[in-house]
Amino acid sequence: MAKGAAIIWFRKDLRLADQPAVSAALALGGPVVGVYVWSPEEEGGWPPGAAARVWLHEALVDLDRSLRRRGARLVLRRGGTADELLEVAKQTGAKSIFWTRRYEPWSIQQEAEVEKALSHVGLQTRSFQGNLLHEPDQVRTGSGTPYRVFTPYWRAVEKLDVAKPEATDASADRSWGQAWKKAASLSIDSFELRPAVRWDRGILERWDISEQGAHTALSRFLKDKAADYARQRDLLAVGESEGEPGDGASRLSPYMHWGQISVRRVWHETLHRASRSATTRLGCEAWRRQLAWREFAHHVLFHFPWTLDQPLNRSFSSFPWRNDDKHLRAWQRGRTGYPIVDAGMRQLWTTGWMHNRARMIVGSFLTKDLRIHWLEGARWFWDTLVDADAANNTFGWQWVSGCGADAAPYFRVLSPASQEKKFDPQGRYVRRWVAESRAPRGTDAYPQPIVDHARVREAAIRAWRAMSKGE
Ligand SMILES: Cc1cc2nc3c(=O)[nH]c(=O)nc-3n(C[C@H](O)[C@H](O)[C@H](O)COP(=O)(O)OP(=O)(O)OC[C@H]3O[C@@H](n4cnc5c(N)ncnc54)[C@H](O)[C@@H]3O)c2cc1C
Repeated sequence: MAKGAAIIWFRKDLRLADQPAVSAALALGGPVVGVYVWSPEEEGGWPPGAAARVWLHEALVDLDRSLRRRGARLVLRRGGTADELLEVAKQTGAKSIFWTRRYEPWSIQQEAEVEKALSHVGLQTRSFQGNLLHEPDQVRTGSGTPYRVFTPYWRAVEKLDVAKPEATDASADRSWGQAWKKAASLSIDSFELRPAVRWDRGILERWDISEQGAHTALSRFLKDKAADYARQRDLLAVGESEGEPGDGASRLSPYMHWGQISVRRVWHETLHRASRSATTRLGCEAWRRQLAWREFAHHVLFHFPWTLDQPLNRSFSSFPWRNDDKHLRAWQRGRTGYPIVDAGMRQLWTTGWMHNRARMIVGSFLTKDLRIHWLEGARWFWDTLVDADAANNTFGWQWVSGCGADAAPYFRVLSPASQEKKFDPQGRYVRRWVAESRAPRGTDAYPQPIVDHARVREAAIRAWRAMSKGE
């Protein structure tokens, strides 16, 4: 590889530790320039939503701060990625460029364009696997097709070695040099990622949006929650503390989505922790199995990129979804009159995150009780989740609405009342997010249920039967 300055093109890998692109660039021994290009037009019609932009802003501030501690800066650009990278290469005299691969269809195309433009002028390029445990096309079924069912996928993936994280932090050991000074950079504020009306306080108060925050979240999970994960992962409220109830989940999803922590490190740390006790081993195994759903979702999107807006199960193309703006708005605002549904939607709105069990409950309610298209749900989540992820979100919505890979059958309609009893038995989750639901019904404070669950459940199943018979 050539000497001279090297560029790291940061993407969904906003960290310095255990970051193969960073280590490879620094290993060359020349100056290294970190660049982030804000190019929402290149995100295939799915540019980061409002909550994700809030996260991105803070993550860029944090990455820049970390680089400053190492005597460098994050160079920020806005525009066509290939052109901006070429310009930075020209300004800094860079000879090579490194990045971490992404796998959404538009990212694959973007990388191909960047690769072509840069190698055309003689720059050396190299990309790395750094956001997943395995490449999404690493495993295939016996007949050579992609997996559509999780369990055999997991059996195949479980056998693969996961690369070990780097033992030392290369970003702190080596010099970054001064080449970044020659590159023109915008300010982070000029990207306008933060909302003009500051509705984002609920997010900022609850999350430490930094690389350090990601490591703290992992340590806390391992110390306080891993042993109980298998038993508690579905509960919406655990612990005794007053106020906002905690839960058994790790809340690592946004950190992994933005690449603020390396997934292989997380994997190996849970393996290491598992040796503590039999229950910790069970908890860590259950957690790694969940992490494998993330891998599976990427496998599915990689092989079936059209599932971003089309059902994997094609027979759902003729499903009679309902257009109903009033019901959609009630769902979005957490005013359906079903406390457990509304609690989930309000947790999402306030914190930018929702518990997995609640995602399943609100998803079932939208697509089965209200029979509204799963894409409406996916789009709302896209705008409001800090962990909004094309693979996981598409997969989750198709799974919950019965039209995706290994999906919950459409006729299995979750009953809000039974879900509440089972997963929020003391009502703490509902009390926290929908306190007024405990007041007399029909007052201004809390609406009557917008539909009758028993009746709409039957209607949904009839619609599904008719679709299945091709009526
Ligand atoms: C309708 C719907 C939409 C979803 N949208 C997203 C999304 O946009 N982004 C996202 O990261 N996750 C999404 N999920 C998956 C899951 O709800 C979240 O990953 C999880 O709630 C994140 O919290 P956690 O990190 O505390 O999870 P934990 O319970 O601690 O699980 C650990 C990790 O495993 C992975 N994981 C767990 N469950 C799933 C799952 N069902 N599918 C894929 N990966 C999983 C996540 O990376 C998660 O961080 C969605 C699920 C549903 C049902």
